[in-house]
Amino acid sequence: MDIKAAQRQCEAYTCPLPEGHDRGSYYILGAAGEVGEAANIVKKVLRGDGPLDKQELALEFADVLIYLLCASNAYEIDLERAFEQKMEINAKRFKRWVKT
Ligand SMILES: [Mg+2]
Repeated sequence: MDIKAAQRQCEAYTCPLPEGHDRGSYYILGAAGEVGEAANIVKKVLRGDGPLDKQELALEFADVLIYLLCASNAYEIDLERAFEQKMEINAKRFKRWVKT
């Protein structure tokens, strides 16, 4: 699935919010919360609680992505195009990091 298709798939979901609340802001906060959940998984590994559960981490990454796709929809952002633009910028900016 490409980013455009994923963004379209997320259009089917809408979180009910009280009147006057900005849906885009809600989704950005949701993404930040999910990043925190992913960080907590990694933190517990560093603390010595056990090995990394990659499946659990992958699902938190997916949560982050879903919220970003929903935020992009709310702000009418073409995230695939933005990704391509940013990769071009980063390719110039971080030239020494690009594998050849
Ligand atoms: Mg989560």
